[in-house]
Amino acid sequence: MSHSIPPSDDPPTRHPPDAAVCPPADLRREMACRICRRILNTYFDATGRLRHLHPAARTSYDHDPDPVPSAEVAGVARSCDFCSDRYPVFRLDSGPVQALALGEDDSSVHDFGTTWSACITCTLLAQASKSEALTQRAVTRMEWADPTIAAEAVRAIHAGVVGTLRPGRTLLTDVHWPHTPVTATALPKVRDRLTALLTGPDRMDLLKVRQRRDIAASLQGGRLFAVDDEFTDLACTAATDLPATVLDVEDLPAPHGLLLWANPVVGGVCAASWASTDQGIRIVSYRGVGGSAGVADGLAVQALREQVGWLIPVSHRLLVHGEAITCVDGALAVLAATWLLIAQRTGETVSVAADRSIRKAYERTRRPAPEVRLVRIRGRQATGSRETRRGEAREPQAQRRWISGYWRSQPHGPGRALRKDVYVIAYLRGPADAPIAASTTVRVLAGERRRPKLQ
Ligand SMILES: [Zn+2]
Ligand SMILES: [Zn+2]
Repeated sequence: MSHSIPPSDDPPTRHPPDAAVCPPADLRREMACRICRRILNTYFDATGRLRHLHPAARTSYDHDPDPVPSAEVAGVARSCDFCSDRYPVFRLDSGPVQALALGEDDSSVHDFGTTWSACITCTLLAQASKSEALTQRAVTRMEWADPTIAAEAVRAIHAGVVGTLRPGRTLLTDVHWPHTPVTATALPKVRDRLTALLTGPDRMDLLKVRQRRDIAASLQGGRLFAVDDEFTDLACTAATDLPATVLDVEDLPAPHGLLLWANPVVGGVCAASWASTDQGIRIVSYRGVGGSAGVADGLAVQALREQVGWLIPVSHRLLVHGEAITCVDGALAVLAATWLLIAQRTGETVSVAADRSIRKAYERTRRPAPEVRLVRIRGRQATGSRETRRGEAREPQAQRRWISGYWRSQPHGPGRALRKDVYVIAYLRGPADAPIAASTTVRVLAGERRRPKLQ
């Protein structure tokens, strides 16, 4: 729950934590503003009515809070409850913290609850019990005068949180960071950091401990794929009309893997991992953290990389045997399309060595040299496609053009009695160094055949 109260002349005092009562259910429910999606502060006014307030901000709001439960707001705009940073990373827990605002003829109780969103810097300050440093940071960032009554109130609240801080912290998974590209050659390090996060002590609401361990094990034993920007675009395009597709383990480029797209695909998701298990394929999607536009401070970036890494898990699904993926499955549909595009060799998959420093680190710990498979578009599909638009291939091309794919129901199985939707792959035609025509779509009526699979 957000704690920053707006500067005011009411002198608030904090109840000692021991005296605080457990807040009623309404207060424990996190509320957000429907209009600006910010998490709201809750309090009781002088008449005992439950009220909601926008969190403090440098500029004033152009609307009144319109409170709805935060779970009902898509893309809730969290901020650090200590310094208002827009990219909190952890949720910290404390004893109940309340502030009593006493006016001349009225008073109100501001209830700040027991959970606090914190940016990486404030997380580390709070965990190191540096309450005064927390307040200094908040006052500086909010450009508040200090000492003032408001700054003193914040100081008291911070002391209350730090004094009753519970052990541990929970990773926030609903914060959207600006995208930062990760190079293919750094992927082994990204994977290792993710493994450490999954097997580490930080709590995650999304995954159970056992699941985390299994996912970490499959990451370590899996293959690494970096999908370049053109191939990412292609997979996104193919995913938009993906019909119900059932995938088996042999459709995957590897039984276990981590795949990183050059750009976020759906809902900020930029990576996915999968593990083939007895129950089916366990898929986790990830968003990036630490985008350079989000953290201006180099030390904070370094702390984030050490404490969290590059990727945070944001959704999780077990795809049971026979379960279909369709175009409505968001990032999962893009993952399925990417797998199919890799399997059907629309792209080329080339091995690249990891960064030298990463290879050295692997050598030191006697691990085999890590390898990354870079997935990119072929400049031209050499064989296997026939065109029905006569003459087109002979025209000189200053640009590469998308030849769009299409879905085809294909017989397979014993006696070819079963039907399966197969994507006939899109590809790019034109000189490899030519720019890609942005909006060109040419439909090919016959494409490379996928060998029917015997089952
Ligand atoms: Zn609002
Ligand atoms: Zn902060």
